[in-house]
Amino acid sequence: MNSAKIIDGKALSAKIRGELKTQALEFEKAHGRKVGLAVILAGDNAASQVYVRNKIIACEETGIKSFAYYLPADVTQNKLLELIDELNSDKAVDGILVQLPLPKGLDENYILSKIDPKKDVDGFHAVNAGNLLLGNACLAACTPSGVIELIKSTGTDISGKHAVVIGRSNIVGKPVALLLLQNNATVTVCHSKTANLKEITKTADILVVAIGKKEFVRGDMVKDGAVVIDVGMNRFDGKLYGDANFEECAEKASYITPVPGGVGPMTITMLMNNTVKAANLNA
Ligand code: NAP
Repeated sequence: MNSAKIIDGKALSAKIRGELKTQALEFEKAHGRKVGLAVILAGDNAASQVYVRNKIIACEETGIKSFAYYLPADVTQNKLLELIDELNSDKAVDGILVQLPLPKGLDENYILSKIDPKKDVDGFHAVNAGNLLLGNACLAACTPSGVIELIKSTGTDISGKHAVVIGRSNIVGKPVALLLLQNNATVTVCHSKTANLKEITKTADILVVAIGKKEFVRGDMVKDGAVVIDVGMNRFDGKLYGDANFEECAEKASYITPVPGGVGPMTITMLMNNTVKAANLNA
């Protein structure tokens, strides 16, 4: 029997985008220009093209002006850095996003480090990651911020709960763990070397899964009544699967995110949120 309530990431996204639209309009009235987001795509990676298109559509929906830069796959690192430099000092641009992965030969970490942290709406810059660690105001990574919004939307009080995060990547696992800690959860971070993983996940009131392995988390790994957030996006035979086996986990959980339609839509929404936030902070 399926007992879990489904957390609808699309509906939550639409609600937040509505609020952001109002904020973006207020910014425009106060400053005489729209909030601006620059998106840089280098090369012709098909998935990246879709992501960039979706980001531009989200900008249109939220009243944010997008500036798209499409660069050839053989763009030099210097050219890309010159563009970032220009955008860093462009007053019409509040956020800069470099779509990853970059073509071979470009040093991703170095390039991202050259974005002004105040315009780093992906939240990947060491200054933003460091401020998140210190608990300072910052632009936090988008997918992790979306995870927190999804949990809060269930009415679950994160404070005092045992939150288990499976995955320790810089873009999902680690920042999710820090945000949960900031919300006063007791946090356990698991990874590929964790011993007795099931024993740990079975004690999680909140279980966030971000490992990139199709349906890895089975029902017997979930505590009765847990909130399960599935970040995974695994394409298999043209279909998208999460990192958790939805049917089995839904039998145990109180709330669960579906894949697709859970975390995915929230990532771009939180990008819009960071862009509006950056505009207001820097105005
Ligand atoms: P990643 O960089 O590959 O990191 C995967 C993490 O999972 C690593 O920390 C790894 O541990 C851990 N792991 C792998 N196998 C494990 C196992 N058997 N048991 C326990 N831990 C294990 O991946 P990512 O970038 O964080 O992404 C994770 C998933 O989220 C992917 O499916 C990705 O597509 C998806 N994602 C979705 C969105 C979205 O918007 N919905 C955004 C970003 C990512 P080690 O550190 O020990 O190797």
